Amino acid sequence: MKEITCKLLVIGAGPGGYVCAIRAGQLGVDTVIVEMAKPGGTCLNIGCIPSKAIIHAADDFAKTVAMAAGRNAMGIKADNPAIDLAKTMAWKDGITGRLTLGVAGLLKKAGVKIVVGRAKFRDGKTVAVETETGEQVIRAENIVIATGSAPVELPVLPFGASGAKVISSTGALSLTEAPQKLAVVGAGYIGLELGLAFAKLGSKVTIVEALDRILPLYDTQLTQPVGRRLAALGVEVLLGTKVKGLSSNGEALLAETGSGEEKRIAADKILVTVGRKPVTEGWGREELELDMDGRFLRIDEQCRTSMRGIYAVGDVTGEPMLAHRAMAQGEMVAEIVSGKRRSWDKRAIPAVCFTDPEIISVGMSPDEARAASREIKIGQFPFSANGRAMTLSAEEGFVRVVARADNHLVLGIQGVGAGISELSAAFALAIEMGARLEDIAGTIHAHPTQSEAFAESALKALGHALHI
Ligand code: FAD
Ligand code: NAD
Repeated sequence: MKEITCKLLVIGAGPGGYVCAIRAGQLGVDTVIVEMAKPGGTCLNIGCIPSKAIIHAADDFAKTVAMAAGRNAMGIKADNPAIDLAKTMAWKDGITGRLTLGVAGLLKKAGVKIVVGRAKFRDGKTVAVETETGEQVIRAENIVIATGSAPVELPVLPFGASGAKVISSTGALSLTEAPQKLAVVGAGYIGLELGLAFAKLGSKVTIVEALDRILPLYDTQLTQPVGRRLAALGVEVLLGTKVKGLSSNGEALLAETGSGEEKRIAADKILVTVGRKPVTEGWGREELELDMDGRFLRIDEQCRTSMRGIYAVGDVTGEPMLAHRAMAQGEMVAEIVSGKRRSWDKRAIPAVCFTDPEIISVGMSPDEARAASREIKIGQFPFSANGRAMTLSAEEGFVRVVARADNHLVLGIQGVGAGISELSAAFALAIEMGARLEDIAGTIHAHPTQSEAFAESALKALGHALHI
């Protein structure tokens, strides 16, 4: 049996764990990271990056199909467009491969030792790893749990059921042919991002959602343009509908609408995207005394768990389960372990949904601001009045700013529009820097860009928008 000692041991090399280990290494902390799959975690291998690659390819393909059908106002023509999805997947795998190799390289460069295998706590300072060459015991002064999350499985639709008909996002991101008929269960982030992508790739998509609206995390004003796009692509959305399981011959998904109507949805694949659950088992939690916060590990504002020397970051610690939250936590914990004074002081965690069009929300929505008993001002500017959006054929959507009525401090910024995910940086910066409406309105925004809608929304809240 081999044994290593170190100052910091990180379990899991997803965005939370790998960023923590890289930063710790940079700071000269003697660090070991254990990963049982590939570096990069869910995000780089089966999550953010591969899904965005497929979404982009599907979008390009759909545009070409529209050109071939003569639905292109710019006069571009195309003939018989086709997509070789196996090749698309190979391209996507090339991207994830480069990124995961890159992460391994960055860890090495930072002097971090990588151990491959499943880690299991023996006690609060000791972890045993099953590696290919036998058991490796690691003793550490500090341990970070960054074990991430996994898809929630529905008991009536277990993954792999009916000859691999029932799939998770991981299965969907490795299909080499678009299913003719795709049923999607859950109209949240993944269901809509991938549902829209497969509709563009040619699948007949039906989405079944238990609640009475799509993307319940965002207000309806933000989700309406996405609803219109779903309709334009011929996607059927069954709201307020419960799934009951597979038909006896396994050919269809059975569901029941809110009014009690039975639905039989013929499907070649059934993609179940009803949320993700933290990975709190399989790493020896039973050997520890960790307080829980519902299904997540409880942490304080320094990501400390209830046990001294044990930290937790990322999806295992709570909502929002987003890669950039995990990374920010990982970076902070590395600095704390190195002796720096840090604690969680972020004003906002941006949320971006890569639907068509894309949705961004940073900080408080109008309803949240009102619920916090604030008198507010709202400024909203439509992309239909933005020159750049017109040149991009992307006039659907708007930017909305929510600010305090008394001192104009910006409380929240939301937007919906084609390709506006990149604006999330400006929105988050404004909130983090404590910007007021006048700061945004007084910043010169380059012309012609979609970002001008941001400045105009602030001007609108101040009562003197220029371009509307
Ligand atoms: P993970 O990335 O889940 O990494 C945890 C790692 O720990 C894994 O590599 C796992 O193998 C390892 N591990 C677990 N247990 C052990 C053990 N006992 N021993 C050794 N290793 C172990 N987020 C966004 O912000 N933007 C997006 O666009 C986005 N898109 C997504 C699309 C999809 C399809 C999915 C599924 C998720 C998406 N997410 C997105 C969410 C994002 O992937 C997660 O929030 C992020 O990966 C969480 O990082 P993490 O480090 O907490 O955990
Ligand atoms: P989600 O929580 O976003 O959406 C799940 C949806 O399924 C909800 O609308 C819910 O009402 C519905 N649902 C739950 N049970 C159901 C049932 N039995 N029948 C029908 N509908 C049901 O979950 P997700 O789409 O699986 O994504 C998981 C997480 O991954 C997200 O919450 C997010 O944290 C992360 N993610 C982020 C991004 C991004 O940042 N762009 C993209 C993908 C995933």
